[in-house]
Amino acid sequence: MAARVVTFHYTLKDKEGKVLDSSQGHDPMTYLEGSGQIIPGLENALKTAKTGDKQNVAVKAAEAYGEHDTSLVFEVPRSQFPPGEQIDVGMKFRAGAPDEPSPVFTVTHASDSHVKVDGNHPLAGQDLFFDVEVTDVRDATLEEIKHGHAHGPGGHHHH
Ligand code: ZN
Repeated sequence: MAARVVTFHYTLKDKEGKVLDSSQGHDPMTYLEGSGQIIPGLENALKTAKTGDKQNVAVKAAEAYGEHDTSLVFEVPRSQFPPGEQIDVGMKFRAGAPDEPSPVFTVTHASDSHVKVDGNHPLAGQDLFFDVEVTDVRDATLEEIKHGHAHGPGGHHHH
């Protein structure tokens, strides 16, 4: 079966029903099937989706942003950060060379002697709940398949 490009609006909630993210008021999300553009649990649930479908999709943490991985939590001596630089809880930074894919670390604790950082996705370890409305389903173009991502509004933009 040819890969499809699926466009949808979504509202993402946590298990308490708190809204974490939503595409309402923005472009809908567009993805090419099999390209890893959206989390696996959601893509699986939308495999047979048709234009106009509305679905509530519950995705376990493992099928979303993964379980919380304690090996990505580090305590770093304050002295490894540039002196004088303010380090606040919630600050994010990337480790590694600028062109390499690397996790984004978030500061979860900061004292004068140590800084605790967490390289997990902010939604790791959380079961997620999506209200989805599929607004378009079409076959992928050859160009999209070659590029490995969807084009158009909500998809990949080439600069
Ligand atoms: Zn492209």
